[in-house]
Amino acid sequence: GVDDGTTIETEDEHDTDTTDTSETAGSPPPSISVDEPTGGLTAGIDPVLREANGTWIAWGDGDADFEVTDKRDCVRVPPDDEAYTLRRIDLSEEAVDAYYRGFSNRVLWPLCHGFAELVEERSDDLEWYRTVNERFAAAVADHATEESVVWLQDYHFALAPRMIRQAIPDSASIAQFWHIPWPSPATFDYCPAGEEVLEGLLGNDLLGFHVERYANAFLDCVRRFLPDATVDHEQGTVQYNGQTTRVVATAMGVDAESYDRQARETDAAQLLSLFDRYDIPRNSAIGLGVDRLDYTKGIPERLTALERFFAENPSWHGDFTFIQKATPSRTEIPAYARHGDLVRSEVDRINRRFGTDDWQPIVYTEEYVEHDDLCALYRHADVMIVSPLIDGMNLVAQEYVAACVDTDGTLLLSDRAGAHERLCSHAVSIDPTDVSGFATAIDDALSMAPQERTARMNALRSSVFDGDIHNWMATQFDLLRRVHDGPDAGVES
Ligand code: ADP
Repeated sequence: GVDDGTTIETEDEHDTDTTDTSETAGSPPPSISVDEPTGGLTAGIDPVLREANGTWIAWGDGDADFEVTDKRDCVRVPPDDEAYTLRRIDLSEEAVDAYYRGFSNRVLWPLCHGFAELVEERSDDLEWYRTVNERFAAAVADHATEESVVWLQDYHFALAPRMIRQAIPDSASIAQFWHIPWPSPATFDYCPAGEEVLEGLLGNDLLGFHVERYANAFLDCVRRFLPDATVDHEQGTVQYNGQTTRVVATAMGVDAESYDRQARETDAAQLLSLFDRYDIPRNSAIGLGVDRLDYTKGIPERLTALERFFAENPSWHGDFTFIQKATPSRTEIPAYARHGDLVRSEVDRINRRFGTDDWQPIVYTEEYVEHDDLCALYRHADVMIVSPLIDGMNLVAQEYVAACVDTDGTLLLSDRAGAHERLCSHAVSIDPTDVSGFATAIDDALSMAPQERTARMNALRSSVFDGDIHNWMATQFDLLRRVHDGPDAGVES
């Protein structure tokens, strides 16, 4: 059903899909290398764009594509097997600061995660957000025809759908997936230009969220702030300005097979070298956390629970080590800088409290971890702790399950992550702010009988493989076809 796919997105911290080149004056033509991104959203989008011979429109933060494209044009990718078009949008530093580090991540991110007190409004940010959304909408209009499917990713493009609709009035299908939560009307009330944001999103034919409660919160906000809209909660539709938008919940998955395969390729020597690198005693059980250093991820609460666990369970001293892999993120934003300082000082304090010459309870690293090392850690972690205060989905939890090929690990999962709806029946559920319950859950996970551990992990693996990224992609396009062809068309998954 996809004749011409056009997808637009920005680059966030973990995207690694760039063409890489270096050239100095007078040197031979640039040599281009392509990094295959591993396991993320790109793993779902890339094959669809290949098949559709589509166009991917993205903000690029490296020089490489711009050199290749002379900053204007498109480049056919991948270079050795040209299958689709990559169009980069070159944003100035001022634009990135205001649009990306400004309205996107100082306003929409905290607001949608319910941290209204962290919203920071700076004078030009909203205007830049409009401008950049206009630039992407104009780029879509350059490439799309009325036959095209246009698919937007995430909160960086709340205004673009309506702009695209206006630029291509007969455009067949515009869809968007909102990867982060949607807040209650009481919180959304604080959104600058909130009505404009809602109107922008109602330019979509299809608007996707991970779970029902975000989709419902969006409909609640439309009802409250756009009185002229007709909201049908049961059908999940909004009619506004002559346009119908279908609002759906479809939980995103990971490229489970690739994590499984990568994990199977790891060997014991690789694990031992990681133990040596981090000075972990060789017989120690391992707990693992892998997160961006973001205030939504509940890292301080996790550290407090670990402190309580170590205080109550001296027998585990030296025999259990928690590895926290934290990836610095959005560090120019003060709330992130403060959060990073808090996490580092808490780790130091807890390690000083319990650490010995031979053992530190918490190994904290902000170093880049290669993908194969990440898979080795996932495979061998006895307990994985995913404890966000709120999270649209949380892919790390699903990656861990996919990589837990020996089925001998336990997932501790916050009941506030989108992933909890999919995994709650066989993960150990935690309330990240209940210190005592959280500490007990760590103890329970470490002491769990092997049969129970394996039974739970097998069930988790079925859910993660059944709802993988490819299944999610297929569902998006089936839904879009159904929106386009009418309610009687079937939805395949
Ligand atoms: P968020 O999108 O909020 O960061 P998710 O858990 O949904 O949270 O996704 C994080 C993604 O980033 C996962 O795919 C994870 O594997 C990846 N990731 C986290 N840390 C690193 C790292 N150091 N190197 C490469 N990928 C990482």
